[in-house]
Amino acid sequence: MPTYSFRCARGDTFDVLIPMPELRSTWTCPTCSQPSTRVYGAPALARLGSSRHRAADLAASSAERPHVVRRPAAAGSTGNAADRSPTARRPGFPALPRP
Ligand SMILES: [Zn+2]
Repeated sequence: MPTYSFRCARGDTFDVLIPMPELRSTWTCPTCSQPSTRVYGAPALARLGSSRHRAADLAASSAERPHVVRRPAAAGSTGNAADRSPTARRPGFPALPRP
């Protein structure tokens, strides 16, 4: 749920945690009960976890220089040439018919 910041005419600032559909252009100040207007700030990127930061960095770098995969990952590889081939057979996946 997003947090919205408001400031009243007296200068009191406060945050309101509400669902987006309930957002109004003015909010009543909890200190002086005067109408307050919304204050726009920087996005709260610091609240993202490190994995989301890595994903955002990877997406940004990939936009200019795409990452190229030359062969499939070698997870479970036995070192056989067949395992290094992109057409290596894997248990549980039946071979597709060849034309
Ligand atoms: Zn106020």
